[in-house]
Amino acid sequence: MNKYCPICLDNFKRPYSIGCSHIFCMNCINKWLDNNNTCPVCRQKFIRKFPIPIALITAKYKTRKITEYWRGFKVFVKIQQMLDEHQDINGIDNSCIYLNEILKYIYENRWILNSNNKTVYNWCGGDRFKNILKDRLKNFSKHPNFKEGKIWQYKFRDILK
Ligand SMILES: [Zn+2]
Ligand SMILES: [Zn+2]
Repeated sequence: MNKYCPICLDNFKRPYSIGCSHIFCMNCINKWLDNNNTCPVCRQKFIRKFPIPIALITAKYKTRKITEYWRGFKVFVKIQQMLDEHQDINGIDNSCIYLNEILKYIYENRWILNSNNKTVYNWCGGDRFKNILKDRLKNFSKHPNFKEGKIWQYKFRDILK
């Protein structure tokens, strides 16, 4: 993780990530994204803009808590990317297969949706995220092709409360 913005080479003003491990000022990365859709440092494809808590950057030591934040953040970015990709998939059969994969991944990493885990949860926009999942699960469960829908609804019953 970089301590300074790689674009203006200064301290961050409103730090943002675009899905990789690099961080930029909001204004700097916005200008870059006007003409590009990759990270200016590692060339990873732009996913979305994720605000990064300043406390994470200014922390002097890599405590367990900080490591956990980053772990949660990576999971969150990955899920977001999968959900975005899912919307572009053609054909209900393929959509169902991919949704199964996504739900499996989320279930394996369900700790990030535990609201006791306040900071990671808030950072990841936990509430907003739960609503997306609820909707996606509800809409697909109506479909006869999505046989696993009921099982997932059962497995997620406490998580999506
Ligand atoms: Zn900058
Ligand atoms: Zn990068």
